[in-house]
Order: sequence, then structure tokens, then C-alpha cells
Amino acid sequence: ILVATGISKSFGATAALSDASLEVAAGEVLAIVGESGSGKSTLARSIAGLEVPDTGTVTLHGAQLPAGRRGRKPGQIQIVFQDPYSTLNPTFTIGQTLQEALRAGSDRTRTVKDLLELVELDPALAMRRPSQLSGGQRQRVSIARALAPNPDVLICDESVSALDVSVQAQILALLARLRDELGLAMLFITHDLGVVARIANNVVVLRNGEIVERGATERVLRAPEHEYTRLLVAAAE
Ligand code: ATP
Ligand code: MG
Repeated sequence: ILVATGISKSFGATAALSDASLEVAAGEVLAIVGESGSGKSTLARSIAGLEVPDTGTVTLHGAQLPAGRRGRKPGQIQIVFQDPYSTLNPTFTIGQTLQEALRAGSDRTRTVKDLLELVELDPALAMRRPSQLSGGQRQRVSIARALAPNPDVLICDESVSALDVSVQAQILALLARLRDELGLAMLFITHDLGVVARIANNVVVLRNGEIVERGATERVLRAPEHEYTRLLVAAAE
């Protein structure tokens, strides 16, 4: 449902991204892997409209989206970041944060309670503030907030990297369930191949802003074709 074609972006003399193309279908998780500075977030932000790329197009359901946020229908492509603590308003209760997200979206049928249940949180947590939640609970709240406008595409930028492994596994299970139940197309950004193996259907590998390999997760991890991917896989073992 989402197709990005020929996305390039430079910052001054730095080519952050060169001619990157990808596709992701409903109910599919596509992982974007690569080391720090390889352009993963720049690609995600360009797709989400948070960054205006120098070249390239993004289409959703066959219709081309404007570059950048202006002129886009809000909420169709949502991003969840690594550290929800920095993106949740500390003075708002969880209920207020989710209420605001629901107001901004086009779906008027869901309630705060529905959103909390969707991410398997006790509705009583609506009364609390972000500082009164665990890291895993905060991450669930930021996923709930991202889902409030009923997006077609959910982008997770290192969304489980800051969590300890058991909480990480729970959040990955939640995301996999949401993918299946809501038919979400997910872009999952990570440098952790263990996480890729657990959740991604397909993978693209970014190196210095270029996609050097792509394919089904199982094939890429078992029989990487590009030398760089082989190095990544060997380093993760
Ligand atoms: P990480 O794993 O550390 O998050 P990344 O793969 O997400 O890295 P990007 O954040 O996309 O990498 O950055 C790609 C390149 O673009 C880097 O060289 C980075 O320094 C540069 N860059 C990204 N954003 C900006 C910006 N706003 N201004 C200048 N340079 C930038
Ligand atoms: Mg990044």
C-alpha cells in the first residue's frame, strides 16, 4: 500500500540518502537496518512527511503524497520514536494525551479506554502522568497515541531499543498483533538483527544512504548476498 521511489536527501555536503526505494503492504513488517548514520531515520522521516527529500515520491494506496507535511491528510502515516519520555507531554495525564490525539484524528468512534485496551494497558492508567509509568508502559502509550488517528502505516524508529529484553519482547508481540489485527503496514527501523528476525517479514539493508540488499527476512539472515550484510549478520552472531 506504501511505495517510496527514488528518495534522496543531502544535508550540506552529506548525502544522507541516495535513491532509496521500498514497498510495504498491509499486514507486512518491513525492517530497515543499517548502522548509525546510514540514513534510516532520514528515510523514515521523508516517508512520514517530517522531512522534505531532495528527490523521490511517496504513494499511499496508489495516490502520490505531497513531499513534507503540508497538503497531506494528517494521521495516515504515524511514527513511534525510541524514547517516548521525550515525546509525551509531562504535564498531561495519559488520558489527556490520548484524548488530544483522538481529537486531532478523523476517527471519532474510538475512546481513550479503547486505545488503552488496544495496547493492553489498564484503563486506570489514564489518570497517571508519564513519570508515573514504566518505560514499557510509556512505549505502549506512545503506540496508542500513534494509532489514535487510525493510520494505514506505522513507522517504528528504534522503538524498542531502549527497553530491556523482556519488555522488548512484549512490545514486539504487541506490534505483531496490531499488524495482524489492524492490517497495518509497518516500517520497523532497528540496528538489531535479533529484533528483525522476530518481527520483520522483509528487510532492506542501508549502508551510507544506499540500499545494498533487500529480501525476505529469513533469506537475508540465512544467506546474505551483499558483503556488508554478511558482516552485519556475522557481527550479530
Ligand atoms: P542512527 O542509527 O544513529 O539513528 P540513522 O541511520 O537514523 O542513524 P540518520 O539520522 O538518517 O541516520 O542520518 C544520516 C546522515 O544524515 C548522518 O550523516 C547524519 O549526520 C545526517 N543528518 C541527519 N539529519 C540531519 C540534519 N537535520 N542536519 C544535518 N545532517 C543530518
Ligand atoms: Mg536514526
